Amino acid sequence: MQIAPNSVVSLTYKLSIHDEEGQPETIEIVEADEPMAIIVGMSGLPEGFETNQMGLNPGDSFDFTLTSEEGYGPRDPEAVVELPLDVFKVEGKIPDGLLDPDNVLPMTNEDGHRLQGRVVEIQDELVLMDFNHPLADKNMHFEGQVLTVRAATPTELEHGHVHGEGGVHH
Ligand SMILES: [Zn+2]
Repeated sequence: MQIAPNSVVSLTYKLSIHDEEGQPETIEIVEADEPMAIIVGMSGLPEGFETNQMGLNPGDSFDFTLTSEEGYGPRDPEAVVELPLDVFKVEGKIPDGLLDPDNVLPMTNEDGHRLQGRVVEIQDELVLMDFNHPLADKNMHFEGQVLTVRAATPTELEHGHVHGEGGVHH
């Protein structure tokens, strides 16, 4: 069965980017003993990732690069913001290690959206936080293999996620 919209696909991949010196840096490896399972069209991955899977069959390999525009977009300087130190206090003080540089903290914005913020530095009573996606501005290189392809069940489509192996068990 070929990959098409609403296919459930299990796959392996290696994601790498190039650092500032142009050296490849591996970000993530998903291997066959614990493959990733997605519903094509609902994976939450950049659309370009799914486009590159279309038409592949089980056993096929893939090897492609998404530009930053096809991926998580450019870095937005306005997504780097100063927050008052008080925001991070628990019972009047900052928990040990919470604001170490490069810590990634789950946060909620004014609209109730969940965001991942990376601690850049502390300046007096302000914390500089970067809410850009860690892969913003990066070209992403994916290599991997399609393991299985099947049609999503009506319940999976309703829930928007894969059930069973590699997915949600409920
Ligand atoms: Zn479900």
